[in-house]
Amino acid sequence: MIKSIKVYLLGILVISSALAVLILFVSGKERILISYVKNQYANVESAFMPAKDVNGNVLYKGDVRHIFFHSLIVYPDLAYGNNKMTRIYKDYMITRDDFEKILPELYKNNFILVDINTLYNVDKDGTVTKKPLYLPAGKKPLVISLDDLSYYYSMAGNGFADKLVLDENGNVATEIVTPEGKKEVTRDGDVVPILDDFVALHPDFSFQGAKGLIAVTGYEGILGYRTDSLESATHPEDLVLVAGVISKLKSTGWSFASHSYSHRTAFSTGTISLKDLKKDTEQWDKEVRPLVGETNVFVGPFGQIFSPNDPRRNYLISQGFKMFCGVGMDQYFRNFTDSIVMDRGDVDGYRLAKTPNLLKPYFDPSILGFVSIAK
Ligand SMILES: [Zn+2]
Repeated sequence: MIKSIKVYLLGILVISSALAVLILFVSGKERILISYVKNQYANVESAFMPAKDVNGNVLYKGDVRHIFFHSLIVYPDLAYGNNKMTRIYKDYMITRDDFEKILPELYKNNFILVDINTLYNVDKDGTVTKKPLYLPAGKKPLVISLDDLSYYYSMAGNGFADKLVLDENGNVATEIVTPEGKKEVTRDGDVVPILDDFVALHPDFSFQGAKGLIAVTGYEGILGYRTDSLESATHPEDLVLVAGVISKLKSTGWSFASHSYSHRTAFSTGTISLKDLKKDTEQWDKEVRPLVGETNVFVGPFGQIFSPNDPRRNYLISQGFKMFCGVGMDQYFRNFTDSIVMDRGDVDGYRLAKTPNLLKPYFDPSILGFVSIAK
């Protein structure tokens, strides 16, 4: 019971302070700090690799791009309708309709989805090596990740789906309540089913069936199931239901990452203590890892992945995390041999409004009504 109250209070704290902190973060301080080396993926190693693999795929020598999304706004009137979270939704999310316009552009621009786990190898002694990437000729690799796919309590009734479920065909779908109050199972309530259906129509948008990386916290459960709350009457049932969804996701090209357990504000300011980070990590290991399975990917809450040699980074490495995903638009990718850091570009309202030009390599922001300002 005490744990549940603590987690609840923590949730309130995180939500209430998220806006100020996110603005601080996205204003660029951290981005500048973590983006000082560009394009580490295309390095000299590739000069010594065969130009083609046995399947005729071509050695890829350019950047591997990585972009991320939060849950999609299905009903903008509800999301933007002057609730407490409206500013956050405007800045850090985009609408379902916009996402559906972006996907065909990514495809048209010859991007192909790759699984982040195929970009590197972890040896038995923990050494990380970058793996050569062979792709169909002309294709450019793209990792897509989804942050905070938890359907937090604060989002209920604000124009988002409520959870991922299996539809009547056994495929992952979205459960959503319409503005009229009708509960529906849909295939266009968030990124997962939309991307699944898009790849089904365009299989060459995905390399070997890869879809995306799902980064989950744990403090309000995952994927819309309150797996954190032992007091919840539906807890045992939720564990079974979420296991079915996760199993289907993993068998259809999705993989999982830790996004910390608490997403607490102290991550964003870099003030979280090693002790608190340990507690947070242990909680994620206890409640979330048994559900989503093994992963060595840590998607930093607020983009926080700590500096190399920071005891907190070293601790996470000692706990098996090898791929650290921050936030930045520079295709930063660097192998530190005990871990790799890969930055991700944010596709959200703030980026579209402030620096849409930076999204031009992916899609033309003017299709969403955002006019690029000359650099
Ligand atoms: Zn997050």
